[in-house]
Amino acid sequence: MSANPAAYAELADFATRHRKLFVLTGAGCSTDSGIPDYRDVDGEWKRPSPVTYQAFMGEESTRQRYWARSLIGWPTMAGARPGAAHRALAQLGEAGRVGLLLTQNVDGLHEAAGSRGAIDLHGRIDTVRCMGCEQRTPRAELQVELRRRNPRWAELEARAAPDGDADLEGRDFSSFDVPACPHCGGLLKPDVVFFGESVPKERVNAAFAALEDADAVLVAGSSLMVYSGFRFVQAAVAAGKPVAAVNLGRTRADPLLSLKVERPVGEALTALAQEIA
Ligand SMILES: [Zn+2]
Repeated sequence: MSANPAAYAELADFATRHRKLFVLTGAGCSTDSGIPDYRDVDGEWKRPSPVTYQAFMGEESTRQRYWARSLIGWPTMAGARPGAAHRALAQLGEAGRVGLLLTQNVDGLHEAAGSRGAIDLHGRIDTVRCMGCEQRTPRAELQVELRRRNPRWAELEARAAPDGDADLEGRDFSSFDVPACPHCGGLLKPDVVFFGESVPKERVNAAFAALEDADAVLVAGSSLMVYSGFRFVQAAVAAGKPVAAVNLGRTRADPLLSLKVERPVGEALTALAQEIA
């Protein structure tokens, strides 16, 4: 796609008029990094909804299925590198234009690109949390243990999915050996907020404080279909702060936007960073 100077000029103008931006990012920022998006341009699910917190915590079979798929999907997540959108937002942050970068992504790619102080609203897939003793350990360490216990699964290859999961429909997961916490024997869970789970209150409060301090909101690569992200746009509009969005396709906030740039997010943010950073 060729550049669209008119839309990019409007975006640069928006960022020039509003010096301190509250930036809210989503899956669209990471598709260039090989992490597929959950939703299509109409905001509908592209594949069956991901596992819920209640199913993960309540059912051994759900955990077997989750970790088997995760074992196979993890190398794609671990190998993902920041893309143009991550780099451009890091540049804008470096230039002092980002009050807070709040991401709905769990891939850690904003930090990898050099953004400082980003809040991972939905947690991080590169960390494992023990639900018994609260110890956090690197996901990479668990991968070694998952492979050791399940050598035949480690051989499988499959298409990667957004949360480091992989497509393995139709397989029998009942023999998958799920490790427990080596310290307390507790249940291990990826340190991400699952569907049906609440975002930790202190994380939400920190984000709302930053929103209060910001001049405007810039949504980048998100359809805002998940309420935990959408509510920040609602709050901004209620407080009279303008909201711009760069997203290919519909967003839940379309009627609330001051500016909508329907262009690839990497390209649009690169143009913005060149213009004002
Ligand atoms: Zn533990």
